[in-house]
Amino acid sequence: MEKKRKDKNLVVQKYGGSSVADRRSIERVAERVISSAKRGKKIIVVVSAMGKSTDELISLAKKINPEPSDREMDMLVSTGEQISCSLLAMSIHKRGFGAVSFTGPQVGIITDTYHTQAKILKIETERIRQQLENKTIVIVAGFQGISTALEITTLGRGGSDLSAVALAVALGAETCEIYTDVEGIYTADPRKISDANKLSFISYDEMLELASAGAQVMHTRAVEVAKKFNVRLHVRSSFSKKEGTLIMGQTPLIEETVVRGITLTENEAKITICDVPDKPGIAAFVFDKLAKIGVNIDMIVQNVSRRKMTDISFTVSNKNLNKTIKKTEEIAAKIKAGKVNSNKNIAKILVVGIGMKSHSGVAARCFSVLAKNKINIDMISTSEISISCIVNKNIGKKALAVLHAEFGLGKGRRKKRER
Ligand code: ASP
Ligand code: MG
Repeated sequence: MEKKRKDKNLVVQKYGGSSVADRRSIERVAERVISSAKRGKKIIVVVSAMGKSTDELISLAKKINPEPSDREMDMLVSTGEQISCSLLAMSIHKRGFGAVSFTGPQVGIITDTYHTQAKILKIETERIRQQLENKTIVIVAGFQGISTALEITTLGRGGSDLSAVALAVALGAETCEIYTDVEGIYTADPRKISDANKLSFISYDEMLELASAGAQVMHTRAVEVAKKFNVRLHVRSSFSKKEGTLIMGQTPLIEETVVRGITLTENEAKITICDVPDKPGIAAFVFDKLAKIGVNIDMIVQNVSRRKMTDISFTVSNKNLNKTIKKTEEIAAKIKAGKVNSNKNIAKILVVGIGMKSHSGVAARCFSVLAKNKINIDMISTSEISISCIVNKNIGKKALAVLHAEFGLGKGRRKKRER
């Protein structure tokens, strides 16, 4: 994709599945789009499939054939977005405005040939531009494109975010608005921390860390593309008029923020290979074999060796636990290691903030507040802008709460500071 000069008057708005879940929601989105058009904006709308309809199509397919081909899956699931985009166009027409809906292939979203996981190679913008010139609202079905082999492809689950960001890049929109059912990005999941704050802004890198830890508000690749081309994202609710969270490169330094947000992940398990011979090539062998079965390893910790033996622990998503244990046992036998243990009773806390680059002692502060609260840390890993700790699952929520308070992220603290 090429970088275009930014056009301030051009807006890409993406509405997720929950924002177009039924007739009423589609009509609400139509009103919203029209009100932006009335403010003189040129609008490209990207929609997801209605509600949970993609899941329903996938489960229907699997009843008919438990192992459907990827090509036919793309033929099937791409229809979800075609339904929502045409209904939205009709709803806008009824309100007296011009709109036209397109599938990804119709507007020339060209992808590679990897069905169900395709990557966008380029976007031919001519057709969209013509419509925008005529003051027509352009609605594009998200999540799909046409491959270089002229087949319909999809971009991976949640891929409408990516369609929206890619269109914003190709057309030169300055901002891409991501409408969803939450009001933005929070300092912590508000379902777990009642005084979590909505952030006014967050950097791309911080958002990428949070997204990789499972904050499902934004598609990770979409944030990567936005970062690469410097497209500002505005994550906001389609159910309210409130401003949401801006995701951008350089966040304003209004106040000293060391930690931007904290997540708690409770769906990972830890696997330990005991008594691993401590010699070159062993770690490479273990993780190469695990990579081959397609499991994503998260944290890895290797202990200091005692008498030429060491323990290696790592975490994986619970859903891959059984196959990972099986494979790990085979590997342990091959390398003449000892037992393989696993523990599902863990939680991962991820503390994220670009302020960590310039402030020292953040890790020490995390560990000491956990210690003060008698929370034992099982594993630790860090990046330039994050610290993650594995703790016992029973105290995961408590660990989240004490860290959230320690870094002043709760509502109470903020009010006090403003006074
Ligand atoms: N409808 C697709 C999905 O559910 C794409 C999207 O929602 O972004 O994964
Ligand atoms: Mg979605």
